[in-house]
Amino acid sequence: IETGKVGIVGSGLIGQSWAMLFAAAGYQVKIYDEDPSRMTQALEEIKIQLQDLDKRGLLRGELTVDEQFSHISTNETLEECIKDTFYIQESVPEEVELKKKVHTELDKFIGSNTILASSTSAILPSIISEALVHRNRFIVVHPTNPPFYVPMVELCPAPWTDPEVLETTRALMKDIGQKPVTINKEIDGFVLNRIQSAILGEGWRLVRDNVISVEDFDIVMKHGLGRRYAFMGPFETTYLNAEGWKSLSERYADTFYRVEKTFGEPEKMVGPTVDKIQNECNKMIPIEKLQERRQWRDRRLTALAKLIKDM
Ligand code: NAD
Repeated sequence: IETGKVGIVGSGLIGQSWAMLFAAAGYQVKIYDEDPSRMTQALEEIKIQLQDLDKRGLLRGELTVDEQFSHISTNETLEECIKDTFYIQESVPEEVELKKKVHTELDKFIGSNTILASSTSAILPSIISEALVHRNRFIVVHPTNPPFYVPMVELCPAPWTDPEVLETTRALMKDIGQKPVTINKEIDGFVLNRIQSAILGEGWRLVRDNVISVEDFDIVMKHGLGRRYAFMGPFETTYLNAEGWKSLSERYADTFYRVEKTFGEPEKMVGPTVDKIQNECNKMIPIEKLQERRQWRDRRLTALAKLIKDM
C-alpha cells in the first residue's frame, strides 16, 4: 500500500478517530468539513486526545504526539481535500440523501484509482453508490465506536465494487492496526448490528416476559458470555466446548435447534416494556450520571485494550 495521502470528509466523532488512526500509522491526513468551526474543534480535540494517550502510554505507532499531529491538515474545500489522495473516508451524518450528495460531489473529483469509503452504520453500499461514475471504487468501511479502542471494522462492498478495492482496503485497515472483516454480500445491519439486534431482541422478550431482570440479563453477558467473547468468538468457544465442531453438532444440534425454535417473533421496542427497562436501568445508573458512566466505560475499554495488547 502507498503510505500516501488520505482524505477524511466530515470531522465529527468518527472522522476525528479516523484521522488519528491514519496519522498514527504515518499517513498524511487531509480533513474537510462543511462547517469550518468543526474542523478547528476537531484539531483541538485530536491534540488533547493524543497528549492524553501519550500520558497513559497508549499512543499508537512509532511517531511522537507532535509528529502525528503534524500529519493532519485541514482544507477549505472538498476538492482541495481530496487532491492526490488514494483513499477517502467519508464520515458525514447518517442520512441517505446527504451521503448520496457528498459521494456525487466526491465522484466528480476523484481519479479512477481512488478508493471511496463510507463509515455508514446502516445504509447499504448499493444505495449510496448506485449512480456514481466511479461506483466500482466504492466500499462501506464501518468502524466500531470508539474505533481507537475497538478495532473491528466491517468492509462491505456493493455488487459492482472492484475486488481490488476490497483487497487494498483490507490491507490498509490491517496496516493502521484495525481488524477488518469482509461482508461478502450486502445485508441490512451488516453483521455487528445484526448480532446486536439478535441479543437485544431476545433480551427484550425475556425481560418483557418476566424471565429475568434487566440487571441479571446484563450479568449473563458481562460475567458470562462476554468474558469469553472479549478474546474468543462464539464459533471457537463452541469448538472448544466439545471435541471440535463435528462433535458439537452431534452432541448439541438438537438442543440448539429446540431452544432457537422457542424464540419469539420480532417486536418493535416500544410500549410498557420500555418503561420497565428504563426504570431498571435507572436504578443501576441514575440517568443524570450517564456522562460519568460513559467516562468510566472509556477507561475500562482502554484498560481492556491494554490487556489484550499484552496477551
Ligand atoms: P457527527 O455528527 O459527530 O459528525 C459529522 C460531521 O460531518 C460534522 O462535523 C458535520 O459538520 C460534517 N458534515 C455534515 N455535512 C457535511 C458535508 N456535506 N460535507 C462535509 N462534512 C459534513 O457524526 P459521527 O458520529 O462522526 O458519524 C459519522 C458517520 O459515522 C455516520 O454515518 C455514522 O453512522 C457513522 N458511525 C458512527 C458511529 C458512532 O458511534 N458515532 C459508529 C460507527 C459509524
